[in-house]
Amino acid sequence: MIMQTDVVVVGGGVAGIKAACELCQAGSKCVLVERDSVLGGKLRGWHKLFPSFTSSSDVIEELLNELKQSNVECLLGSEVVYISSTLCRLASGTEIQCRAVILATGYNLFDARIKEEYGYGIYDNVITSVDLERMFHTGTISTLSGAAPEKVAILHCVGSRDEKVCQRHCSKVCCITAVKQAIEIKKMLPNSEVFNFYMDMRMFGPGYEELYLTAQKQYNVHFIRGRISEAAQLPKGRLQIKAEDTLTARPLIMSVDMLVLMVGMKAPKQNALFALATGLELQPSGFISSKDLFLEAVLTSVPGIFVAGTVTAPKTIGESISEATMASRAALKFIEG
Ligand SMILES: Cc1cc2nc3c(=O)[nH]c(=O)nc-3n(C[C@H](O)[C@H](O)[C@H](O)COP(=O)(O)OP(=O)(O)OC[C@H]3O[C@@H](n4cnc5c(N)ncnc54)[C@H](O)[C@@H]3O)c2cc1C
Repeated sequence: MIMQTDVVVVGGGVAGIKAACELCQAGSKCVLVERDSVLGGKLRGWHKLFPSFTSSSDVIEELLNELKQSNVECLLGSEVVYISSTLCRLASGTEIQCRAVILATGYNLFDARIKEEYGYGIYDNVITSVDLERMFHTGTISTLSGAAPEKVAILHCVGSRDEKVCQRHCSKVCCITAVKQAIEIKKMLPNSEVFNFYMDMRMFGPGYEELYLTAQKQYNVHFIRGRISEAAQLPKGRLQIKAEDTLTARPLIMSVDMLVLMVGMKAPKQNALFALATGLELQPSGFISSKDLFLEAVLTSVPGIFVAGTVTAPKTIGESISEATMASRAALKFIEG
């Protein structure tokens, strides 16, 4: 089958949804293509959002309402396997001819099993930040035996800033997510003790530093500067963790009921395939390069292919949505010649 439109938006996460809405509201014809059977991307997996504890479902609902009112044509359960600036081919064989493409295909989560020393997938009560969000959704935080954890360790930078796993970049949102998650644990389990192990605290956004102070002062969350070197299983599902407190230069051994690994953002392998097919430039991290970081952040090295959201780097939801607006404007300007 062959379809025709002005702009194809690839990826129906927050960036793709917003870009498609803006295009249709401006009177352009656009098709939004999403691999999953539902729209929303990673946001669907999160419970409350930093720094305001806004419910993620409120944000999704608002975006989906806007999409409905904009009459965007959506193709769900459709994976784009090939792009050029004038064509997108789906896994089904359908081809969409177009005048511009906005790539909003996002990021992958780092697979925590690769860091074997932490025992994810091996030990019972080692979970990831994504698993913890799922627990928040259900309203219960519990170990595998069903007990509420009394002592929880949260490890920052799992699969970020780590040369050994070829992930040199900072995933940007993990520090503030870890602070938010520590507070959510304390809100649900006020008698628990929570220890965050960090390399550096990167509180770059508005209200983030304040939330970090609130976690310490109001919720008594402990922050230890140091990286956990390994975890080992103890009887009854408990875990022993070894770390070095790099502020006091002392080794540290602690037993906890639960270890939460803050998994980083990884560039999807398909970025390289798209780059090979189109001549798009990639960064060493595997994320797509913008044409210019300052004035043309949503343009790429290929005229007619635009980018929005985390396809170019780890970003917050707010940043991804703002970029989507910029990308749709740039795409409109391009097709208007
Ligand atoms: C644990 C965790 C918690 C977070 N919490 C927050 C928070 O509280 N606040 C905040 O601001 N940010 C948070 N973030 C960051 C947030 O997830 C991102 O900013 C946001 O998801 C980026 O949206 P996106 O549209 O760029 O990408 P994604 O959400 O990755 O969406 C990309 C979409 O593209 C689709 N896609 C990919 N390839 C194809 C293809 N070939 N064909 C068709 N479709 C395709 C995917 O299925 C997906 O739906 C968190 C991140 C993590 C890891």
